[in-house]
Amino acid sequence: MWSSFRAWRRRRILSRSLYTTQHWHALRARLPILDGLSEAEEQRLFQRAILFLHHKRLTALPGVELDELDRLSLAAQAELPLLHLGELDWYRGFHEIVLYPDDFLSPQRHRDAAGVEHEWDDARSGEAWQQGPVILAWPGVHSSGGWDAYNLVIHELAHKLDMLNGDANGLPPLHRDMRIADWAAAMQGAFDRMNAQLDAAPEAETAIDPYAAENPAEFFAVTSEYFFSAPDLLAEAFPAVYAQLAAFYRQDPLARLHKLQT
Ligand code: ZN
Repeated sequence: MWSSFRAWRRRRILSRSLYTTQHWHALRARLPILDGLSEAEEQRLFQRAILFLHHKRLTALPGVELDELDRLSLAAQAELPLLHLGELDWYRGFHEIVLYPDDFLSPQRHRDAAGVEHEWDDARSGEAWQQGPVILAWPGVHSSGGWDAYNLVIHELAHKLDMLNGDANGLPPLHRDMRIADWAAAMQGAFDRMNAQLDAAPEAETAIDPYAAENPAEFFAVTSEYFFSAPDLLAEAFPAVYAQLAAFYRQDPLARLHKLQT
């Protein structure tokens, strides 16, 4: 009964939506990372994007002007990682996305081993709060959507997936057919290798964004970002990480990209 009620509500939201297939076609030109999806996948993504905009509040701070396509673009990128994850509400942990006009300073605090409290401001283009909104700097959202190893929307929302089972620690809730030991071995191995490389040469050219080496949560967020926007770089550098993310997201963007390149 409840699932049919939910289906009815969904149909009602979709039928009342202002968005038409014209919007979707206009959007597609902006988002090359959707290239290669099947027609059925695109249709589902379009519907999920509309539902996303219905359920989440997008708050634009002064200096950010959002038009309908901007909103749809953000929602489509937010829903891409969930496209094959069934009907579960993976984004239940938040209700609001706040859009800043530019990168912002985030107050940081860290107590070191000697017990000394350090405080500083970090320039950020995005932030996901454990019990709260996702913050995105508009220029970063605007730069997302291509196959160029950058996607602020997917990065910050990966943090939200990670937080579904507690603090962000690089381990989101895995599916039953996955093993935590396999995940941990793949992620830890790659994370350790990156850190060893950076310890030896802090300016070293790493295969993926060195920000991934900050901590396990950033490693998961950055590799998720690469998984969808530069799967070739990720699979070449860390094939075991790519395999785990493919099992988690139940998608194979590398196959999609290869098809586009032939
Ligand atoms: Zn992050």
